[in-house]
Amino acid sequence: SERTLVLVKPDGVGRGLVGEVISRIERKGLTLAALELRTVKRDIAEQHYAEHQGKGFYESLLEFITSGQVVALVVEGERAIEAFRQLAGATDPVKANNGSIRGDFATVVQNNIVHGSDSPESAAREIKLWFPDLG
Ligand code: ATP
Repeated sequence: SERTLVLVKPDGVGRGLVGEVISRIERKGLTLAALELRTVKRDIAEQHYAEHQGKGFYESLLEFITSGQVVALVVEGERAIEAFRQLAGATDPVKANNGSIRGDFATVVQNNIVHGSDSPESAAREIKLWFPDLG
């Protein structure tokens, strides 16, 4: 079994989509290993999005992710990383399939409701960043 770091971003929390996202995760057969509602400090946001440093949308992305509460989750199950990426849909929500979280609920690339780790290496790094005490 595998673990992935999922975020319901401030737009998802603000629009009341936390239950919807968790429901889709659970219906898929994945389980929750950690769950927390929190505000994101600037340094955590910078570390989380380190790969995007220097890109045109980087500052705006940091502002967005620190603009309100997020729900951080560790999601567990067989092929959890790929499974959640499929549940989330493409980064650009207009191109994301209908039936995916982004495809069903968003139109703006930045404000795409959720984050999910994109590889085992990212998942390990991100879980350590968001849940340093998780065994
Ligand atoms: P995430 O890592 O959040 O799951 P992703 O892997 O699908 O998303 P990345 O390319 O890693 O997408 O981008 C990280 C996040 O940065 C996106 O989810 C989105 O919120 C934002 N983003 C990506 N590209 C753009 C863009 N061109 N303009 C504005 N925001 C963007």
